[in-house]
Amino acid sequence: MHISRRNFFTGSLATGAALAALPSVAAAPTRRLRIAHLTDLHIQPELDAVRGVAACLEHVQSLREKLAIDGPDLIITGGDTIMDAMAAGVARTKEQWDLWRRVKSNHCGLEVQSVVGNHDVWGWTKETAKTTGAEPLYGKQWACDEFGREKAYKSFDRGGWHIVLLDSVFPFEDRYIGRLDDEQWDWLDADLAAVPPATPVAIFSHIPILSALPIAVSGPTPPGTASMSLPGAFLHVDAARFQKLFAVHRNVKTCVSGHMHLIEQVDYQGVRYLCNGAVCSGWWRGKHRDTDFGYALVDLHDDGSVERRYIPYGWKAV
Ligand SMILES: [Zn+2]
Repeated sequence: MHISRRNFFTGSLATGAALAALPSVAAAPTRRLRIAHLTDLHIQPELDAVRGVAACLEHVQSLREKLAIDGPDLIITGGDTIMDAMAAGVARTKEQWDLWRRVKSNHCGLEVQSVVGNHDVWGWTKETAKTTGAEPLYGKQWACDEFGREKAYKSFDRGGWHIVLLDSVFPFEDRYIGRLDDEQWDWLDADLAAVPPATPVAIFSHIPILSALPIAVSGPTPPGTASMSLPGAFLHVDAARFQKLFAVHRNVKTCVSGHMHLIEQVDYQGVRYLCNGAVCSGWWRGKHRDTDFGYALVDLHDDGSVERRYIPYGWKAV
């Protein structure tokens, strides 16, 4: 027989002794914010990518009809919005941003916040991009202009949560590695220090802060070597500093990333690390390993808990 808590309380057995014997009934967490995390769109003129991104945006906005679930409160794009600007010339880079701007204005009625990915950075591979470094839009400036903001990182409050968008991408030789620079570390330290401890925090970065995926995709260890080495382009090389920071700020509940085009969840020391596949899956050519063309719904609850669901939007490579 099922006795609801309410019936129990109103029944004749609700004495002090009986109440003390009641097993604690945890209230189900309430969702405060649903974010559609669309990462690694890699929009380009080729491979029908524009129609693919449009289909994805339309899917996000028709979840009620398609899957009988609530749509998101906002979209966060996780970086690599465009196919590539790092090694591309000015005309090709402009063409790709034009496509993103057009598809967004034609197919998206929701608020969009954007993380900068390595492929959104213009011209660091100077030889092929034909850049000198003196161009006004060089590096992250172009992406910042497209996203309508001054810096490549930012934070904001929504639904009782504090949301941080980090800039993971810093130059190394003529490419990049995953880390923050000193300026951004100072900003992040101050930003988290200003958040009340009862307010949960969700951090979005392009490159994963903590992930087992670089291990999963790395080749066999060369004979005669005792240790594995992980590419600094695959995960944050300053991961240890994040662990220290999160030990101080226990209200950091989740770190959400893209970049790997793979799906993963790592729960470590009270933080849920989510890597959320890719809208373009295998760069529009097909599936990357077993990742379908998709996006994630990230649900942030009032008790600081986080749930993620990966949603394929039905795209097939042309
Ligand atoms: Zn990518």
